Amino acid sequence: MKLDYDYIICGGGISGLLLCVKLTQNIKLSNKSVLLIDPIFPKTENDRTLCFWDSKNTTWDEIIKCKWDNVFFKSNDFNKTLDLGSLNYKMLSSSEFYNYSNSLINTNDCIEVLNADVLNFNDYKTHCTVDTLNNSFTCSKVFNSIMDWAQVKINTKYPLLIQHFEGWVIKTDNECFNPNKATFMDFSIKQNDLTQFMYILPFSKTEALVEYTLFSKDLLEPQKYEDAIKKYLNSSNICDYKVTSKESGKIPMTCFPFFKNNTKNILNIGSAGGWSKPSTGYTFKNIDKNTTRIADYLKSGKSFKNFMTKDRFWFYDLIFLDVLYKENDLGKKLFTDMFKKNNSKTIFKFLDNKSNFIEEFKIMLSFPKSIFMTAVLKRLFKGL
Ligand SMILES: Cc1cc2nc3c(=O)[nH]c(=O)nc-3n(C[C@H](O)[C@H](O)[C@H](O)COP(=O)(O)OP(=O)(O)OC[C@H]3O[C@@H](n4cnc5c(N)ncnc54)[C@H](O)[C@@H]3O)c2cc1C
Repeated sequence: MKLDYDYIICGGGISGLLLCVKLTQNIKLSNKSVLLIDPIFPKTENDRTLCFWDSKNTTWDEIIKCKWDNVFFKSNDFNKTLDLGSLNYKMLSSSEFYNYSNSLINTNDCIEVLNADVLNFNDYKTHCTVDTLNNSFTCSKVFNSIMDWAQVKINTKYPLLIQHFEGWVIKTDNECFNPNKATFMDFSIKQNDLTQFMYILPFSKTEALVEYTLFSKDLLEPQKYEDAIKKYLNSSNICDYKVTSKESGKIPMTCFPFFKNNTKNILNIGSAGGWSKPSTGYTFKNIDKNTTRIADYLKSGKSFKNFMTKDRFWFYDLIFLDVLYKENDLGKKLFTDMFKKNNSKTIFKFLDNKSNFIEEFKIMLSFPKSIFMTAVLKRLFKGL
Protein backbone atom coordinates (compact mmCIF):
# COMPACT_ATOMS: atom_id res chain seq x y z
CA MET A 1 0.00 0.00 0.00
CA LYS A 2 1.28 3.48 -0.75
CA LEU A 3 2.10 5.89 2.10
CA ASP A 4 1.25 9.29 0.63
CA TYR A 5 -2.28 10.54 -0.18
CA ASP A 6 -3.97 13.84 -0.92
CA TYR A 7 -6.65 13.39 1.74
CA ILE A 8 -6.83 11.07 4.74
CA ILE A 9 -10.15 10.58 6.52
CA CYS A 10 -9.80 9.28 10.09
CA GLY A 11 -12.96 7.39 11.05
CA GLY A 12 -15.42 5.95 8.56
CA GLY A 13 -18.68 6.54 10.41
CA ILE A 14 -21.47 8.77 9.15
CA SER A 15 -19.39 11.91 8.57
CA GLY A 16 -16.32 10.09 7.18
CA LEU A 17 -18.42 8.10 4.74
CA LEU A 18 -20.54 11.05 3.70
CA LEU A 19 -17.38 13.07 3.10
CA CYS A 20 -16.14 10.31 0.77
CA VAL A 21 -19.48 10.43 -1.05
CA LYS A 22 -19.38 14.22 -1.39
CA LEU A 23 -15.76 14.17 -2.56
CA THR A 24 -16.72 11.62 -5.19
CA GLN A 25 -19.73 13.63 -6.32
CA ASN A 26 -18.55 17.22 -5.96
CA ILE A 27 -14.95 17.39 -6.92
CA LYS A 28 -14.90 14.20 -8.95
CA LEU A 29 -11.57 13.46 -7.28
CA SER A 30 -9.72 13.95 -10.53
CA ASN A 31 -6.09 13.06 -9.82
CA LYS A 32 -6.76 13.02 -6.03
CA SER A 33 -6.15 10.08 -3.77
CA VAL A 34 -8.10 9.42 -0.57
CA LEU A 35 -7.40 7.04 2.30
CA LEU A 36 -10.22 6.21 4.72
CA ILE A 37 -9.04 4.64 7.99
CA ASP A 38 -11.44 2.88 10.35
CA PRO A 39 -11.04 -0.37 12.30
CA ILE A 40 -14.47 -1.41 11.03
CA PHE A 41 -15.12 -1.22 7.30
CA PRO A 42 -17.45 -2.00 5.70
CA LYS A 43 -20.12 -1.26 8.28
CA THR A 44 -23.41 -2.84 7.38
CA GLU A 45 -25.43 -3.12 10.56
CA ASN A 46 -28.31 -0.90 11.55
CA ASP A 47 -26.60 0.64 14.57
CA ARG A 48 -28.33 4.04 14.46
CA THR A 49 -31.59 5.48 13.22
CA LEU A 50 -30.93 8.90 11.75
CA CYS A 51 -33.80 11.38 11.74
CA PHE A 52 -33.98 14.94 10.54
CA TRP A 53 -36.48 17.41 9.17
CA ASP A 54 -36.04 18.56 5.60
CA SER A 55 -37.83 19.67 2.43
CA LYS A 56 -40.35 17.15 1.14
CA ASN A 57 -38.12 16.13 -1.78
CA THR A 58 -34.39 15.71 -1.20
CA THR A 59 -31.61 13.49 -2.46
CA TRP A 60 -32.05 11.26 0.61
CA ASP A 61 -35.58 10.23 -0.39
CA GLU A 62 -34.12 7.39 -2.45
CA ILE A 63 -32.96 5.60 0.69
CA ILE A 64 -35.09 6.93 3.55
CA LYS A 65 -37.21 4.33 5.30
CA CYS A 66 -40.10 6.55 6.48
CA LYS A 67 -41.26 10.16 6.47
CA TRP A 68 -43.99 11.98 8.36
CA ASP A 69 -45.88 15.21 7.62
CA ASN A 70 -46.61 15.78 11.30
CA VAL A 71 -44.87 15.16 14.56
CA PHE A 72 -46.42 15.16 17.99
CA PHE A 73 -45.29 16.81 21.24
CA LYS A 74 -46.66 15.58 24.55
CA SER A 75 -46.34 16.71 28.12
CA ASN A 76 -48.64 16.12 31.12
CA ASP A 77 -50.95 19.06 30.62
CA PHE A 78 -50.19 19.91 27.01
CA ASN A 79 -50.32 17.99 23.70
CA LYS A 80 -49.74 19.44 20.27
CA THR A 81 -49.44 18.16 16.72
CA LEU A 82 -46.56 20.15 15.29
CA ASP A 83 -47.21 21.36 11.78
CA LEU A 84 -44.00 21.04 9.77
CA GLY A 85 -45.30 23.12 6.86
CA SER A 86 -43.27 22.41 3.77
CA LEU A 87 -40.99 20.01 5.67
CA ASN A 88 -41.15 16.32 6.47
CA TYR A 89 -39.65 14.50 9.42
CA LYS A 90 -37.51 11.80 7.80
CA MET A 91 -35.90 8.61 8.97
CA LEU A 92 -32.84 6.97 7.49
CA SER A 93 -31.56 3.61 8.75
CA SER A 94 -27.80 3.58 9.14
CA SER A 95 -27.66 0.19 7.34
CA GLU A 96 -29.18 1.82 4.24
CA PHE A 97 -26.78 4.74 4.55
CA TYR A 98 -23.75 2.43 4.95
CA ASN A 99 -24.77 0.33 1.92
CA TYR A 100 -25.29 3.43 -0.17
CA SER A 101 -21.90 4.96 0.71
CA ASN A 102 -19.96 1.67 0.71
CA SER A 103 -21.03 0.93 -2.84
CA LEU A 104 -19.90 4.37 -4.02
CA ILE A 105 -16.57 3.97 -2.21
CA ASN A 106 -15.99 0.44 -3.50
CA THR A 107 -16.49 1.51 -7.10
CA ASN A 108 -14.23 4.56 -6.88
CA ASP A 109 -10.57 3.76 -7.62
CA CYS A 110 -9.41 7.02 -5.98
CA ILE A 111 -10.51 5.87 -2.52
CA GLU A 112 -8.59 3.25 -0.54
CA VAL A 113 -9.70 1.86 2.80
CA LEU A 114 -7.50 0.68 5.66
CA ASN A 115 -8.87 -1.28 8.61
CA ALA A 116 -6.83 0.14 11.47
CA ASP A 117 -6.92 2.46 14.47
CA VAL A 118 -5.55 5.94 13.94
CA LEU A 119 -3.13 6.65 16.77
CA ASN A 120 -2.38 10.29 16.04
CA PHE A 121 -2.12 12.94 13.33
CA ASN A 122 -0.25 16.24 12.93
CA ASP A 123 -0.17 19.27 10.70
CA TYR A 124 3.40 20.28 9.77
CA LYS A 125 2.10 23.11 7.52
CA THR A 126 3.83 21.72 4.42
CA HIS A 127 2.18 18.32 4.91
CA CYS A 128 0.30 16.26 7.51
CA THR A 129 1.06 12.89 9.04
CA VAL A 130 -1.31 10.17 10.22
CA ASP A 131 -0.01 7.23 12.26
CA THR A 132 -1.46 3.77 12.74
CA LEU A 133 0.22 0.87 14.53
CA ASN A 134 1.88 -0.44 11.36
CA ASN A 135 2.17 2.63 9.13
CA SER A 136 2.96 6.31 9.06
CA PHE A 137 1.19 8.15 6.24
CA THR A 138 1.67 11.61 4.80
CA CYS A 139 -1.00 13.71 3.09
CA SER A 140 -1.99 17.30 2.38
CA LYS A 141 -5.30 17.34 4.32
CA VAL A 142 -6.64 15.33 7.27
CA PHE A 143 -10.33 14.99 8.18
CA ASN A 144 -10.82 13.64 11.67
CA SER A 145 -14.11 12.20 12.95
CA ILE A 146 -12.69 10.39 15.99
CA MET A 147 -14.40 11.92 19.00
CA ASP A 148 -12.17 12.92 21.91
CA TRP A 149 -14.57 12.89 24.89
CA ALA A 150 -11.70 13.42 27.36
CA GLN A 151 -10.91 16.97 26.20
CA VAL A 152 -14.57 17.98 26.64
CA LYS A 153 -14.87 16.30 30.03
CA ILE A 154 -11.80 17.99 31.51
CA ASN A 155 -12.73 21.47 30.29
CA THR A 156 -14.43 23.60 32.96
CA LYS A 157 -15.69 26.48 30.82
CA TYR A 158 -18.37 24.76 28.74
CA PRO A 159 -20.80 22.38 30.46
CA LEU A 160 -21.22 18.91 28.97
CA LEU A 161 -24.58 17.20 28.99
CA ILE A 162 -24.94 13.83 27.32
CA GLN A 163 -27.86 12.86 25.17
CA HIS A 164 -28.11 9.15 25.89
CA PHE A 165 -30.75 6.72 24.84
CA GLU A 166 -31.90 3.20 24.16
CA GLY A 167 -34.45 2.38 21.48
CA TRP A 168 -36.36 -0.80 20.68
CA VAL A 169 -38.03 -1.64 17.41
CA ILE A 170 -41.14 -3.53 18.45
CA LYS A 171 -43.82 -5.45 16.60
CA THR A 172 -47.19 -5.61 18.29
CA ASP A 173 -50.03 -8.12 17.94
CA ASN A 174 -52.65 -5.36 17.92
CA GLU A 175 -52.75 -2.04 16.08
CA CYS A 176 -51.10 0.33 18.56
CA PHE A 177 -49.55 3.11 16.46
CA ASN A 178 -50.64 5.86 14.11
CA PRO A 179 -48.17 5.59 11.20
CA ASN A 180 -48.98 9.16 10.11
CA LYS A 181 -47.61 10.76 13.22
CA ALA A 182 -44.19 10.45 14.88
CA THR A 183 -43.88 11.39 18.55
CA PHE A 184 -41.06 13.91 18.69
CA MET A 185 -41.01 14.17 22.49
CA ASP A 186 -43.28 12.64 25.10
CA PHE A 187 -42.43 14.33 28.40
CA SER A 188 -45.33 12.73 30.27
CA ILE A 189 -42.92 10.26 31.92
CA LYS A 190 -41.53 10.88 35.43
CA GLN A 191 -38.55 13.23 35.26
CA ASN A 192 -36.77 12.21 38.50
CA ASP A 193 -34.93 15.57 38.56
CA LEU A 194 -33.51 14.97 35.05
CA THR A 195 -34.61 15.84 31.51
CA GLN A 196 -36.07 12.70 29.94
CA PHE A 197 -38.66 11.79 27.35
CA MET A 198 -39.87 9.06 25.02
CA TYR A 199 -39.55 9.25 21.25
CA ILE A 200 -41.70 7.10 18.94
CA LEU A 201 -41.26 6.51 15.24
CA PRO A 202 -44.16 4.42 13.92
CA PHE A 203 -43.42 2.48 10.71
CA SER A 204 -46.90 0.94 10.56
CA LYS A 205 -49.89 0.39 12.85
CA THR A 206 -48.05 -2.55 14.41
CA GLU A 207 -44.37 -1.59 14.26
CA ALA A 208 -42.41 1.29 15.78
CA LEU A 209 -39.11 2.40 17.24
CA VAL A 210 -39.68 3.41 20.87
CA GLU A 211 -36.71 5.26 22.31
CA TYR A 212 -36.04 6.39 25.87
CA THR A 213 -33.90 9.55 25.79
CA LEU A 214 -32.20 11.65 28.47
CA PHE A 215 -30.31 14.93 28.40
CA SER A 216 -28.26 14.62 31.60
CA LYS A 217 -24.79 14.67 33.12
CA ASP A 218 -24.33 10.93 33.61
CA LEU A 219 -25.27 7.70 31.90
CA LEU A 220 -27.67 5.27 33.59
CA GLU A 221 -27.04 1.64 34.45
CA PRO A 222 -28.01 -0.45 31.39
CA GLN A 223 -31.01 -2.05 33.13
CA LYS A 224 -32.60 1.36 33.80
CA TYR A 225 -33.11 2.08 30.08
CA GLU A 226 -34.86 -1.28 29.62
CA ASP A 227 -37.01 -0.77 32.69
CA ALA A 228 -38.13 2.67 31.49
CA ILE A 229 -39.16 1.39 28.04
CA LYS A 230 -41.05 -1.59 29.53
CA LYS A 231 -42.82 0.70 31.99
CA TYR A 232 -43.79 3.15 29.26
CA LEU A 233 -45.15 0.44 26.97
CA ASN A 234 -47.08 -1.03 29.84
CA SER A 235 -48.59 2.33 30.77
CA SER A 236 -49.55 2.83 27.10
CA ASN A 237 -51.37 -0.55 27.21
CA ILE A 238 -48.88 -2.09 24.80
CA CYS A 239 -48.34 -5.51 26.36
CA ASP A 240 -48.13 -8.03 23.51
CA TYR A 241 -45.04 -7.14 21.55
CA LYS A 242 -41.84 -8.61 20.21
CA VAL A 243 -38.55 -6.66 20.28
CA THR A 244 -36.97 -7.10 16.83
CA SER A 245 -33.91 -4.87 17.28
CA LYS A 246 -32.29 -2.48 19.75
CA GLU A 247 -30.07 0.57 19.44
CA SER A 248 -28.36 2.72 22.01
CA GLY A 249 -25.94 5.59 21.99
CA LYS A 250 -24.68 8.87 23.36
CA ILE A 251 -24.22 12.24 21.72
CA PRO A 252 -22.30 15.20 23.23
CA MET A 253 -24.43 18.24 24.09
CA THR A 254 -21.89 21.00 24.54
CA CYS A 255 -20.73 24.32 23.14
CA PHE A 256 -17.11 23.25 23.63
CA PRO A 257 -15.30 24.89 20.67
CA PHE A 258 -14.12 21.74 18.89
CA PHE A 259 -13.30 23.97 15.93
CA LYS A 260 -10.33 25.45 17.82
CA ASN A 261 -8.56 22.15 17.06
CA ASN A 262 -8.86 22.83 13.33
CA THR A 263 -5.66 23.91 11.61
CA LYS A 264 -4.87 25.00 8.09
CA ASN A 265 -4.82 21.38 6.93
CA ILE A 266 -6.71 19.44 9.61
CA LEU A 267 -10.47 19.63 9.91
CA ASN A 268 -12.43 17.91 12.66
CA ILE A 269 -15.70 16.64 11.28
CA GLY A 270 -18.95 15.10 12.59
CA SER A 271 -19.50 15.12 16.35
CA ALA A 272 -15.72 15.45 16.77
CA GLY A 273 -15.93 18.76 14.90
CA GLY A 274 -18.79 20.11 17.05
CA TRP A 275 -21.38 19.42 14.36
CA SER A 276 -23.90 17.96 16.81
CA LYS A 277 -26.38 20.75 17.61
CA PRO A 278 -25.58 21.39 21.30
CA SER A 279 -29.19 21.87 22.45
CA THR A 280 -30.74 18.91 20.61
CA GLY A 281 -28.01 16.49 19.47
CA TYR A 282 -29.28 16.54 15.88
CA THR A 283 -26.18 16.07 13.70
CA PHE A 284 -27.01 14.44 10.38
CA LYS A 285 -28.17 17.59 8.57
CA ASN A 286 -25.06 19.46 9.72
CA ILE A 287 -22.90 16.60 8.41
CA ASP A 288 -24.74 16.75 5.09
CA LYS A 289 -24.36 20.54 4.83
CA ASN A 290 -20.76 20.78 6.05
CA THR A 291 -19.39 17.95 3.91
CA THR A 292 -20.71 19.84 0.89
CA ARG A 293 -18.88 22.96 2.11
CA ILE A 294 -15.64 20.96 2.43
CA ALA A 295 -15.65 20.23 -1.26
CA ASP A 296 -15.86 24.00 -1.89
CA TYR A 297 -13.03 24.69 0.59
CA LEU A 298 -10.82 22.17 -1.15
CA LYS A 299 -11.51 23.74 -4.53
CA SER A 300 -10.63 27.22 -3.20
CA GLY A 301 -7.56 26.09 -1.22
CA LYS A 302 -8.70 28.01 1.89
CA SER A 303 -7.39 27.19 5.39
CA PHE A 304 -9.71 25.10 7.60
CA LYS A 305 -9.02 27.37 10.59
CA ASN A 306 -12.15 29.42 9.99
CA PHE A 307 -14.37 26.63 8.71
CA MET A 308 -16.48 26.84 11.89
CA THR A 309 -16.95 29.96 14.02
CA LYS A 310 -19.16 31.04 16.89
CA ASP A 311 -22.44 32.67 15.91
CA ARG A 312 -25.56 33.81 17.77
CA PHE A 313 -27.08 30.30 17.61
CA TRP A 314 -23.98 28.98 19.36
CA PHE A 315 -24.61 31.58 22.07
CA TYR A 316 -28.32 30.61 22.43
CA ASP A 317 -27.31 26.96 22.74
CA LEU A 318 -24.68 27.89 25.32
CA ILE A 319 -27.17 29.72 27.54
CA PHE A 320 -29.69 26.90 27.16
CA LEU A 321 -27.08 24.35 28.22
CA ASP A 322 -25.85 26.55 31.09
CA VAL A 323 -29.44 26.59 32.39
CA LEU A 324 -30.09 22.89 31.84
CA TYR A 325 -26.74 21.88 33.35
CA LYS A 326 -27.48 23.86 36.52
CA GLU A 327 -31.13 22.75 36.77
CA ASN A 328 -31.36 19.49 34.89
CA ASP A 329 -35.03 18.98 35.76
CA LEU A 330 -36.04 22.12 33.82
CA GLY A 331 -35.98 20.51 30.34
CA LYS A 332 -39.59 19.41 30.44
CA LYS A 333 -40.77 22.94 31.28
CA LEU A 334 -38.50 24.62 28.74
CA PHE A 335 -39.52 22.40 25.81
CA THR A 336 -43.20 22.48 26.83
CA ASP A 337 -43.21 26.29 27.07
CA MET A 338 -41.43 26.61 23.76
CA PHE A 339 -43.88 24.37 21.89
CA LYS A 340 -46.92 25.81 23.72
CA LYS A 341 -46.16 29.45 23.01
CA ASN A 342 -44.67 29.38 19.51
CA ASN A 343 -45.54 28.42 16.01
CA SER A 344 -43.95 25.03 15.29
CA LYS A 345 -42.66 26.02 11.85
CA THR A 346 -40.73 28.89 13.49
CA ILE A 347 -39.33 26.52 16.13
CA PHE A 348 -37.97 24.12 13.52
CA LYS A 349 -36.46 27.10 11.67
CA PHE A 350 -34.89 28.21 14.96
CA LEU A 351 -33.52 24.73 15.68
CA ASP A 352 -32.07 24.73 12.16
CA ASN A 353 -30.25 28.04 12.87
CA LYS A 354 -32.29 29.71 10.13
CA SER A 355 -34.63 32.00 12.08
CA ASN A 356 -34.42 35.79 12.16
CA PHE A 357 -33.92 38.07 15.22
CA ILE A 358 -37.63 38.78 15.68
CA GLU A 359 -38.52 35.08 15.62
CA GLU A 360 -35.69 34.33 18.05
CA PHE A 361 -36.76 37.11 20.38
CA LYS A 362 -40.31 35.71 20.52
CA ILE A 363 -38.97 32.24 21.30
CA MET A 364 -36.74 33.67 24.08
CA LEU A 365 -39.80 35.28 25.64
CA SER A 366 -41.32 31.83 26.17
CA PHE A 367 -38.58 30.88 28.65
CA PRO A 368 -38.46 31.89 32.35
CA LYS A 369 -36.97 35.38 32.13
CA SER A 370 -35.17 35.64 35.47
CA ILE A 371 -33.46 32.24 35.07
CA PHE A 372 -32.26 33.08 31.57
CA MET A 373 -31.20 36.64 32.36
CA THR A 374 -29.14 35.36 35.30
CA ALA A 375 -27.58 32.71 33.04
CA VAL A 376 -26.71 35.35 30.41
CA LEU A 377 -25.07 37.62 33.01
CA LYS A 378 -23.11 34.74 34.56
CA ARG A 379 -21.94 33.63 31.15
CA LEU A 380 -20.83 37.13 30.15
CA PHE A 381 -18.90 37.34 33.41
CA LYS A 382 -17.35 33.87 32.90
CA GLY A 383 -16.49 34.50 29.26
CA LEU A 384 -17.65 33.13 25.94
C1 LIG B 1 -27.86 5.50 18.11
C2 LIG B 1 -27.71 6.91 17.57
C3 LIG B 1 -28.81 7.52 16.98
C4 LIG B 1 -28.65 8.82 16.45
N1 LIG B 1 -29.73 9.42 15.87
C5 LIG B 1 -29.58 10.62 15.28
C6 LIG B 1 -30.69 11.22 14.61
O1 LIG B 1 -31.80 10.71 14.61
N2 LIG B 1 -30.48 12.41 13.97
C7 LIG B 1 -29.27 13.03 13.98
O2 LIG B 1 -29.15 14.10 13.37
N3 LIG B 1 -28.23 12.51 14.65
C8 LIG B 1 -28.35 11.32 15.29
N4 LIG B 1 -27.28 10.77 15.95
C9 LIG B 1 -26.07 11.59 16.11
C10 LIG B 1 -25.10 11.51 14.93
O3 LIG B 1 -25.77 11.76 13.72
C11 LIG B 1 -24.38 10.17 14.87
O4 LIG B 1 -23.69 9.94 16.07
C12 LIG B 1 -23.38 10.10 13.72
O5 LIG B 1 -22.94 8.78 13.66
C13 LIG B 1 -22.21 11.05 13.93
O6 LIG B 1 -21.29 10.81 12.91
P1 LIG B 1 -19.72 10.86 13.18
O7 LIG B 1 -19.05 10.58 11.91
O8 LIG B 1 -19.41 12.09 13.93
O9 LIG B 1 -19.45 9.67 14.22
P2 LIG B 1 -19.54 8.12 13.94
O10 LIG B 1 -20.59 7.81 12.96
O11 LIG B 1 -19.65 7.50 15.29
O12 LIG B 1 -18.13 7.76 13.29
C14 LIG B 1 -16.93 7.77 14.01
C15 LIG B 1 -16.06 6.66 13.39
O13 LIG B 1 -14.76 6.73 13.95
C16 LIG B 1 -14.28 5.40 14.04
N5 LIG B 1 -13.16 5.40 14.98
C17 LIG B 1 -13.19 5.53 16.34
N6 LIG B 1 -11.94 5.50 16.83
C18 LIG B 1 -11.11 5.36 15.77
C19 LIG B 1 -9.68 5.29 15.63
N7 LIG B 1 -8.86 5.38 16.67
N8 LIG B 1 -9.19 5.16 14.38
C20 LIG B 1 -9.98 5.11 13.29
N9 LIG B 1 -11.32 5.18 13.37
C21 LIG B 1 -11.87 5.30 14.60
C22 LIG B 1 -15.48 4.60 14.49
O14 LIG B 1 -15.33 3.22 14.18
C23 LIG B 1 -16.59 5.26 13.67
O15 LIG B 1 -16.80 4.59 12.46
C24 LIG B 1 -27.40 9.50 16.53
C25 LIG B 1 -26.34 8.86 17.17
C26 LIG B 1 -26.48 7.58 17.68
C27 LIG B 1 -25.29 6.96 18.38
